[in-house]
Amino acid sequence: MRILITNDDGVHADGLWALAHVLEEFGTVKIVAPDRERSACGHAMTLREPLRVKSTVKSGFEVSEVNGVPVDCVNVGLSVAWPDGCDLVVSGINNGPNLGFDVTYSGTVAGAMEGTINGIKSIAVSMCVFADGAPFHFETGARWLRENLPWLLEKPLGDLSFWNINVPAIAWPEIQGHKFVGMGRRVYEDRVERRDDPWGRPYYWQGGVVVMRNELVGTDVWAVNKGFVSVTPVSLDWTDHPALSSLNQELVSNEKI
Ligand code: MN
Repeated sequence: MRILITNDDGVHADGLWALAHVLEEFGTVKIVAPDRERSACGHAMTLREPLRVKSTVKSGFEVSEVNGVPVDCVNVGLSVAWPDGCDLVVSGINNGPNLGFDVTYSGTVAGAMEGTINGIKSIAVSMCVFADGAPFHFETGARWLRENLPWLLEKPLGDLSFWNINVPAIAWPEIQGHKFVGMGRRVYEDRVERRDDPWGRPYYWQGGVVVMRNELVGTDVWAVNKGFVSVTPVSLDWTDHPALSSLNQELVSNEKI
């Protein structure tokens, strides 16, 4: 199996290397990753400046460092690392959760989205660490993948869908198992903080405190809070199908009148 790994924490991130070492058990791994941290870049793409690629070999892996974001890495990777295509794109292991609406901001998830757009089976993997300075436990995420990747690859998904996996950042024996769940609602409070610079001019930090909506049973947020790995099939079809069909039904009934 030909595997392309990317991430948004940069090529030196521990999570990327934990992922590389577990995926090499399943096939040939090539790493194409940003040369620095690009978290929360969403599904951005570099258009107005050239992409530079530095190719090296590290720990036996072919590594391409790109001065771009995960979308750039997947596309450059399919040109440089796997010009004849590959069988799997895995993005991560991210050093933080990608739950609920986070998927729209996440560079990690964007890597899997871009793999999907290219017609390749894709997976985003993130460690849900909720306290500053707490250990990431990448080994837990890697072990979960080792044990579960075979069925993840086998399970049929829509051709616009990919897997979003979130692993609680706890030791392996504490993991309760996994749950198939939908996207939750991860809400931030005090999203923007105003401060003043030494000259009295205001500036703003965006971040905020997460308000976890645990009460929504059956969501990714709920699952990881209970100590389960959340497994969410996410579709790139953002159409609101019930709304669309109701609009078309209205159109038909208006025509009848
Ligand atoms: Mn990140």
